[in-house]
Amino acid sequence: MIRLNQRFAALGLAMALAAAGVQAAAPQVKTQAPGYYRLMLGDFEITALNDGTLDLPVDQLMDKAKPGTVVKALQKAYLKPPVETSVNAYLINTGTKLVLIDTGAAGLFGPTAGRLLTNLKAAGYQPEQVDEIYITHLHPDHAGGLTLDGKAVFPNAVVRMDQHDADHWLNPANAAKEPEGHRGFFPGVIAALKPYQDAGRVKPFTGTAELVPGIHPVAAPGHTPGHTIYMVESQGQQLAVWGDVMHVAAVQFADPSVAINFDSDSKVAVPQREKVFADAAKKGYFVAVAHLSFPGIGHLRADGKGYTWVPVNYSIKP
Ligand SMILES: [Zn+2]
Repeated sequence: MIRLNQRFAALGLAMALAAAGVQAAAPQVKTQAPGYYRLMLGDFEITALNDGTLDLPVDQLMDKAKPGTVVKALQKAYLKPPVETSVNAYLINTGTKLVLIDTGAAGLFGPTAGRLLTNLKAAGYQPEQVDEIYITHLHPDHAGGLTLDGKAVFPNAVVRMDQHDADHWLNPANAAKEPEGHRGFFPGVIAALKPYQDAGRVKPFTGTAELVPGIHPVAAPGHTPGHTIYMVESQGQQLAVWGDVMHVAAVQFADPSVAINFDSDSKVAVPQREKVFADAAKKGYFVAVAHLSFPGIGHLRADGKGYTWVPVNYSIKP
C-alpha cells in the first residue's frame, strides 16, 4: 500500500511538472508516411503511388447538379468544398515488365501535387526501371509527370495511350473544340510528351489487344475522346484502373448522373460512368481510381439507385 501511494505521489509530481511546462513538448511533425500502398493481384505486384492532392471547389465544378445537392452530399461524408482530392497513379510489376499507369502532375498543378517520383523511389523502384507507361487520358494531372524541366523522367519507357487522345491533345488546333477552361491543358501536355516523341517512344494504340501479357485497354470515352480503362489480370484476379471515370466519391457513387466540368463531353461521360459502375458491381473485380482517397483501391457494391464504395482492407502482408 505504501508503495502504491508513493507511485501516485510520483505521478502527481510528473503531472504538476508537465502542467508547469517543465517537461518539453514534442514538436508536431505534420507530414504523412510516404504515399505508396502495395497489393498483390495474382502474381502481379500493384503499387499505388500518390502524387499529392488538389483542392477542388467541387460545388462550382458540379454546377449542373440540382442546387444544394452537391453540398448536401459532401456534408453526409463530413466534407465541405473545396475537397482535398487525391491524385493517384498505379505501378504494376508483372514479373517481366514494370508498367506505370498515369504519372501525376509534376509541376503543372502547384506544390500540393508532383510527388510521384519521390513516392516511387520510397516504394523501392527507380524511374529507369519503368518499361511502359500507359496514360488513361492526356490531362495534365495524368501525363504531366512524364517530364521534369524539359527532360524525360522515365528514360527507358515507351509511352502509350489511345490514338483518339493522342490525336486530340497533341494538336493545339483542337483547343477550340474544348470548353474554355480546358484550353490551357494543351501546352503542358504537349511539352510533357515532347522528349518521348523526340526519342520515338510515344506509341498510341487502337483497339483492345493486350499491351503486355495481363494488361489490356478498354475504351471509355466521354471524359476525353480517348479516355481509357486498363484491365489488369493475373491468376484469375482482375483490377480495373479507371482513370477519371469519376472524381468525387461523396457525390458520384450515390448519384453517377452528376457530371463535373472537367469532361470533354459530359453527355457521353455520364452514361459511360453508369455503365462502368454497373459492370464493376456486377463482376466484383478490384477498381483503382485516380481521384479517390489514396490508395483509391476497392470494390463497388450496388446500393439502391447508386453504389457504395468498399475500400480495400489494409494489409501489412501483400
Ligand atoms: Zn484527373
